Amino acid sequence: MNRQTLRWQVLAQDGEARAGVLQTRRATIETPVFMPVGTLGTVKGMRYETLESPELDARIILGNTYHLWLRPGADVICALGGLHRFTGWRRAMLTDSGGFQVWSLTGLRKISEEGVEFRSHIDGRQCFLSPEISMEAQAALGAEIVMAFDECAPGKLAHAETRKSMERTLRWEARSKNRFDELQAESADAGRNCGTNEVSGAQALFGIVQGATHLDLRRESLARTVEMGFDGYALGGLSVGEEKEVMYDVIAQVAPEMPRSSPRYLMGVGTPEDLVEGVSRGIDMFDCVLPTRNARTGQAWTTEGKLNIKNARWTRDERPLDEACACSVCRRYSRAYLRHLYIAGEMMASILLTHHNLFFFLDTMRRVRQAIRFNEFAKFRREFLTRSACSAE
Ligand SMILES: [Zn+2]
Repeated sequence: MNRQTLRWQVLAQDGEARAGVLQTRRATIETPVFMPVGTLGTVKGMRYETLESPELDARIILGNTYHLWLRPGADVICALGGLHRFTGWRRAMLTDSGGFQVWSLTGLRKISEEGVEFRSHIDGRQCFLSPEISMEAQAALGAEIVMAFDECAPGKLAHAETRKSMERTLRWEARSKNRFDELQAESADAGRNCGTNEVSGAQALFGIVQGATHLDLRRESLARTVEMGFDGYALGGLSVGEEKEVMYDVIAQVAPEMPRSSPRYLMGVGTPEDLVEGVSRGIDMFDCVLPTRNARTGQAWTTEGKLNIKNARWTRDERPLDEACACSVCRRYSRAYLRHLYIAGEMMASILLTHHNLFFFLDTMRRVRQAIRFNEFAKFRREFLTRSACSAE
């Protein structure tokens, strides 16, 4: 009997919201969890020791296969012992398949049954990514959780086209799983040597449910993906142009039908409000570039909504970014100082705003988990959404 690649346990449930524990060979992850995005092997503006410190305590981050495959190359990272050894990150990691990135290269890519042909955004060179190549690249990177290669359909795609895209995703998922199983049988993944007693050194593979906003297709995609059998299930193709209410409705309809015995991951979403709304509909895992990307454009997420640090009204404001925030940035620095750094183009502005934003997202999830455990999630959600609606700007 093989040891499991992941251990997953739901500890408490409040409505559809679940609090659980996901154990990989490198970390114990309390869920619901927000995964900071480390696109190029770095969570921009953060040192890993800070991210691992008790203050932020991120347990799992996301790496982008597309970007790392192009530069420095999956072969280079594999030769250096995998993404963990290459980057120095010691906790859990999930890699995406690259499918979403190549799909986003509108105008630069051609999709066929075999895979996606595209021009590299770095040097224009012709490249080709397929389910098999994505699995090989993700094995070389060696994250504990890898994603099947899928096709993302735009949020407002018509039913017939969505069905075609969904059928292709299902064929690509089957090919992903075949290649994944072969690679695992060969022990080909880079991080294999750090298994623990509880979980094996092998990688886990998540399947992705597509179907845009068409609920019948979403349900069919879910049933057929579950039939193939994956270690976890993701909702893909949301937050890609559809209205927010439509996205919430798809999650509400589909997430509770996803297997209870596996983690549920909502890919690429979202704002703090989206996280709370996703949790209330049964989602366990999230990732998004918002806290890091927005920090670099001067936006902070606070308990009272978004705050734009460029605003002239903060010029003499001695208050912290968020008076209710316990992060080390809010304990020391004023809006006036942060605004000055940003306007002067100092890199520290991005570093400090990134720190606060990631703390805010991670701390929100800590409070979400606690609320679920105490059966107070409905109250937490109501209060959180009411407060964040009064934007500080
Ligand atoms: Zn703060």
